[in-house]
Amino acid sequence: MYANVIIDISHEKVDRAFQYRIPEALSGRIAVGVQVRVPFGAGDHERKGYVVEITDRAQWNTEQIKEIAGVVSGSVTGQSQLIQLAWWMKERYGSTMNQALKTVLPVKQKVRKKENRVLVCLLPDAQLREAVAEAARKKYRARERLLRAFLETPQIPYAIAVRQMNLTAATLKPLLENKTLAVEAHTVERSPVEALRKGGAEPSRLALNARQQAIADDFAARYDRGDRQTSLLYGVTGSGKTEVYMEMIDHVLKKGREAIVLIPEIALTYQTVLRFYKRFGDLVSVVNSRLSAGERYDQFERAYSGEVRVMIGPRSALFTPFSNLGLIVIDEEHEGAYKSELSPRYHAREVAEQRARMSDAALVLGSATPSLEAYSRALAGGSRLYRLTGRAKAGSHMAEVKVVDLREELRAGNKSIFSRELKAAMEQELADGRQIMLFLNRRGYSNFVSCRSCGQAVKCPHCDVTLTLHRNGRLVCHYCGYQTAAPKSCPSCGSPYIAGFGTGTQKIESMAREMFPSARILRMDLDTTSKKGGHEEILASFAEGEADILVGTQMIVKGHDFPNVTLVGILAADLSLYSSDFRCGERTFQLLTQAAGRAGRDEAPGRVIIQTYSPGHYAVECAARQDYETFYRKEMAYRQVLRYPPLCALLSVLVSSRDERVLDEAVSQLNRWTLKMPEAARIQLIGPAEAPIYKVNDIYRKILYMKQENYDILIRIKNRLEILSGQAEWFSHVMMQFDFA
Ligand code: ADP
Ligand code: ZN
Ligand code: ZN
Repeated sequence: MYANVIIDISHEKVDRAFQYRIPEALSGRIAVGVQVRVPFGAGDHERKGYVVEITDRAQWNTEQIKEIAGVVSGSVTGQSQLIQLAWWMKERYGSTMNQALKTVLPVKQKVRKKENRVLVCLLPDAQLREAVAEAARKKYRARERLLRAFLETPQIPYAIAVRQMNLTAATLKPLLENKTLAVEAHTVERSPVEALRKGGAEPSRLALNARQQAIADDFAARYDRGDRQTSLLYGVTGSGKTEVYMEMIDHVLKKGREAIVLIPEIALTYQTVLRFYKRFGDLVSVVNSRLSAGERYDQFERAYSGEVRVMIGPRSALFTPFSNLGLIVIDEEHEGAYKSELSPRYHAREVAEQRARMSDAALVLGSATPSLEAYSRALAGGSRLYRLTGRAKAGSHMAEVKVVDLREELRAGNKSIFSRELKAAMEQELADGRQIMLFLNRRGYSNFVSCRSCGQAVKCPHCDVTLTLHRNGRLVCHYCGYQTAAPKSCPSCGSPYIAGFGTGTQKIESMAREMFPSARILRMDLDTTSKKGGHEEILASFAEGEADILVGTQMIVKGHDFPNVTLVGILAADLSLYSSDFRCGERTFQLLTQAAGRAGRDEAPGRVIIQTYSPGHYAVECAARQDYETFYRKEMAYRQVLRYPPLCALLSVLVSSRDERVLDEAVSQLNRWTLKMPEAARIQLIGPAEAPIYKVNDIYRKILYMKQENYDILIRIKNRLEILSGQAEWFSHVMMQFDFA
């Protein structure tokens, strides 16, 4: 047997694994992830490396393969755990070991400056308050936001300030020059937690209410007993889940262990990060997609060395190389962003469970609208269910929700996208000086160009999708990047009557401007947030009252508390209801419920108006009543009938090729292979069917679906298909992608 070994733990080294022979004497002790000593280079100097793969196939001439010299004792480190995790991911999701390793290992890149500088405030408290008031008066929003933070904490790490609060040099420079703030080297004594401890006080924390406390206590007791069953914290929006997570983390840190907190990127705002920072001080660090590879590597190094003990971040924070991980929290566990769209196409919930198992850590999932997977499991006793049923803040109540039937509006002669009721409500809120959110549950924009004579939309010549009209007048394909000038006449029939169509956020913004000319309107979608930090900027300025109306896609419903928002208008609930994805009902329910949860976060009562063409659909009805339980029952019944997850495991095999005939031959061959397998009788095979978008970038795509109650059977089938296709020469013209739904 042979072992492939990487000498250096990094993303780049993965492609250069070296093969060694496993000597008889060591055969029982060598496994993936084990750290070994190997002779290396011309001089055969001994180096340490990690085993990433074990195989019976020699890479080259067996004579030249050197032997492993020994196993490094006590070698189960955070690193070896990550390598084992990569192996598990490769097996489970079907990718190469390289792809899996590259997913879990950071890109090694040194940052020049170590980021341990902090911003401190030089003003005494009274003067600081004065400065905050002045910034507010002059409407220096960024300055106000920053100074306000110093009212609650003595220092802010420079990196968090710049990365999470999006401070620019223009904001910082004058404050440094007039000695309001200073940049200093980090000292532990000044961290908020340490400073408070010295003064005898506990770090900033809210007194938990009885329900929160009971959950935290039960968790702690189970933790101490060694009970590592997954917990599901199901609590309505604003019920205080985050406070509970922090209590749990505190418990685990006190046991000398570390914690990872996953938060979807769009909810990872400075408000959220600051909350954790105020509680745990410098023990907290954040990774997000805005970090450069070097900054990211630096954060992971700090975690590895034990300097950082709570890592917050999106999906990829799961791979923080802690060596004594004790807890993983996944907030908003139902979020689609936890599923990776790159190979290995893993789900963070499943990988977290595996990582927790490997390091004897606890896993806590939290949501106001749990995924069917998580909730059904909790009901079946497979995980511990905790509930928080009301808002945590005194005086804050769930909003009143009204459903407006858009068909009725049309019958009454109202062709506008704003129903009469929504318009009246907007008028009233604006008159009262309150804020409004208008929500379009559709990704990005939907502006395409179509012909009014023949009805054809202008499509991409390389893909089966319509081109998107951008403001600069160009048509762009969002799948392959193809661009062209908008045509003057219809490419299909030559008619000159060709025009833009669609109700994107831009259109809603301009209609709202027409209707309420004096209202200040902000828009948040892919277009306005594409620049670095654009998303945070818009949310922050809305939170600070710089606009009356915020128009946006799902990006606007997460992460920020907007105490002054008393009306949420959902313009067309149906937009996400009818799609080819079997989860569209669940997604719609989640989006509507989360959006509704934005209204009335403070004491002022909130109102939500849901406009829809399908007022009778259970996803809409249940969201309007904020009735998760009924939604859950109806949706489960639907999944039961059609045998969809979580009642059945679903494997899709996306097969693609440039040559349509090769593609057809390949899918038939896969079908035949599958039918010959011993498990064939036990799976339901569907397709092959054309993929929802048949052609992308001149590559044709078909899909095979396989359903079976038992996940492991599907994994076996996947493995065998990988082997069989790997042995067939002509399959090199075919690409296969496995995806577990
Ligand atoms: P969730 O994570 O469930 O949406 P949060 O933890 O963000 O809820 O809490 C919502 C709001 O309620 C926050 O403003 C938070 O400060 C406040 N809050 C949470 N717990 C308490 C408590 N025990 N007492 C007072 N306010 C609380
Ligand atoms: Zn295209
Ligand atoms: Zn035409």
